[in-house]
Amino acid sequence: MTTAICIKCGAFKFGAICPCKKCGAWPETEDDYVASFVFTDHFNSTAELEKIGVQIASGSNIRVEPGTLEPALMETIRQLMRSAKAREPRKDIPQVP
Ligand SMILES: [Zn+2]
Repeated sequence: MTTAICIKCGAFKFGAICPCKKCGAWPETEDDYVASFVFTDHFNSTAELEKIGVQIASGSNIRVEPGTLEPALMETIRQLMRSAKAREPRKDIPQVP
């Protein structure tokens, strides 16, 4: 299981793309997804993740530089975003009662 940091509150969570147990935040934007992937034990040691978590919890806006992730991983992230969006109810289509 992937150890990750919640990009909204800095709490530890398991799995990059999942809701935070503490604050319930999901990654929403592409930046959120990228940060959620980068702030995992695939890219950082547990000690580094702890440091990042403390910074996020204290209100620092931690940005991930564009190009941090390989293009192949970016494509995976975009596919994940598309499938996450596909599960949301469509608001632009009028529902027939
Ligand atoms: Zn959180």
